[in-house]
Amino acid sequence: MSFCSFNQHRHRADGTRNTATSPMLSRCTQLLKRQNIRMGTYDTAQICLNGHVITSSSSYGELRKNFCPKCGEKTIMSCQQCNSRIKGHYHVEGVIGFSSFHVPSFCDNCGQPYPWTDRSKKAAYDLIHFSESLTLDEKHDLNNSIDDLLKDSANSNLAGLKFKKYAAKAGKEVANGLKDVLIDLVSETAKKAIWG
Ligand SMILES: [Zn+2]
Ligand SMILES: [Zn+2]
Repeated sequence: MSFCSFNQHRHRADGTRNTATSPMLSRCTQLLKRQNIRMGTYDTAQICLNGHVITSSSSYGELRKNFCPKCGEKTIMSCQQCNSRIKGHYHVEGVIGFSSFHVPSFCDNCGQPYPWTDRSKKAAYDLIHFSESLTLDEKHDLNNSIDDLLKDSANSNLAGLKFKKYAAKAGKEVANGLKDVLIDLVSETAKKAIWG
């Protein structure tokens, strides 16, 4: 939300209504004008190898941690394949933002999956392998649909349908396990299509 949110400043602290000529409002207008021509910058995110976000604003040094307090894994701030930094919170000067940070699945510089994406995929494959109600072909098909779901491609819709069908057949335990492992990695569209 913008620092100059209109509702926030419509009334002064003493309850009187701001007018168009109030210093506060004209300052806001100036700031908003400046924002239109000023691009923001990305902070660097710090994330553990299992995908837990330590901070989306690692420029605040005190927020950084060498190891994850949730799982004890090492934390990283850059892609391990190409060394490009992991983009975090998007800062625009003069704007206090509360945008939610979404953990990226793939590096936007080299296209390789981040370690947490690979680990979740592996965990999902293991769960599928564990299922006794799916045939080998169905397991294979379900594995492929997970790849498509993570990539958020044109195949995502079909992948979502397949996933739903096979997850139901695999049984409640496996289906719930897959949901836990994958829910943070699939796109919003796929999330809605599969889990509502
Ligand atoms: Zn962790
Ligand atoms: Zn990379």
